[in-house]
Amino acid sequence: MTDDGYDLQTLAVRAGTYRTEFQEHSEAMFLTSSFVFRSAAEAAARFSGAEPGNIYARFTNPGVTMFEERLAALEGAERCVAFASGMAAILATVMGLMKAGEHIVASRSIFGSTVQLFSNVVGRFGVETSFVSPTDPEEWRRAVRPNTRLFFLESPSNPLTEVSDIAAIAAIAREAGAVLAVDNCFCTPILQRPLELGADVVIHSATKYIDGQGRVLGGAVLGGKDLLEGVYTFLRTAGPTLSAFNAWVLLKGLETLPLRMEAHSRNALALAEWLSAHPGVARVLYPGLPSHPQHALAMKQQSSGGGIVAFEVVGGKEAAWRVIDATRLMSITANLGDTKTTITHPASTTHSRMTPEQRAAAGIGDGLVRIAVGLEAVADLKADLARGLGMP
Ligand SMILES: *Cc1c(COP(=O)(O)O)cnc(C)c1O
Repeated sequence: MTDDGYDLQTLAVRAGTYRTEFQEHSEAMFLTSSFVFRSAAEAAARFSGAEPGNIYARFTNPGVTMFEERLAALEGAERCVAFASGMAAILATVMGLMKAGEHIVASRSIFGSTVQLFSNVVGRFGVETSFVSPTDPEEWRRAVRPNTRLFFLESPSNPLTEVSDIAAIAAIAREAGAVLAVDNCFCTPILQRPLELGADVVIHSATKYIDGQGRVLGGAVLGGKDLLEGVYTFLRTAGPTLSAFNAWVLLKGLETLPLRMEAHSRNALALAEWLSAHPGVARVLYPGLPSHPQHALAMKQQSSGGGIVAFEVVGGKEAAWRVIDATRLMSITANLGDTKTTITHPASTTHSRMTPEQRAAAGIGDGLVRIAVGLEAVADLKADLARGLGMP
């Protein structure tokens, strides 16, 4: 069931469901590495591709296929290929779409491991990357070369919640003959649908909100049927396959994704508003606040602000660490997209490999704290922060 006539809430619960002859109500998990053929002729037809069907779990598994079909329905994509992690999905995008001698234009504000992957891994195989501003489409236009094949961005960015104009950057990619890939991890298809805004490929770390409860790793690449053929061939050949168990956890995670994303956004907005009024806080960065530099754009391309809030504490690193260490409820961890609220100091953790000058240029101050707002009661979260910030 991938009929676009259904609401996202319905697709999240129902799309992609496949029942075996036992007519189980909840989706089954298929713990098998290979599949049996009824005859030599059927085996030959499966291998030649003349007949669809499962062969070996590195290629396909019914539970993985259910997850792919459900996520594809939510993103409005023709095709989804699942992976063992978000990073495997990003690597497969490059390996499936590019060859040596080609060029990537990427936002400067992307996940740290993605920067390493582009610069130090695929960089060694003759694929060069230019990093540009997430918020200035003209920089993307100026970075284009005749061999540019891939544009890559994340919106909103981490930790500063910068919002990229996906439609404007997609138009520049199209003119350049390049493919725009959007890492939609922070919003999920519930809050933002990049393919509708003109992107060609959507990437997920399903480890975050899609699981939503911090249990398993997973990833996905979504887009047009033909465009993703090379991405699937890379998966089938190289094997960064999503496990049957993880696929099952993620499939069930999708069923509550619309409810959870709305609740994450609602809690984050309430916390961002409260922080904005707090004398111990110098500034709050949250796309759902009218004070956010790209608030209007965010509200045009997202249905709400999402679950990530960053704020600058008055008093620099010492004050930021005091806020973090005074929490009793929040988890001090860099992970995000969990029912449990997480709190982190980017300058000394996720962004500590940057020099102080690079951090200053990027706007990641020593007083900056990032919260991935979970599903606890907002009053309890405020009290947890108030302890280190001082009253009110
Ligand atoms: C976590 C994350 C990734 C990497 O995903 P893994 O599942 O950890 O491999 C990629 N992009 C973003 C935005 C992330 O937050």
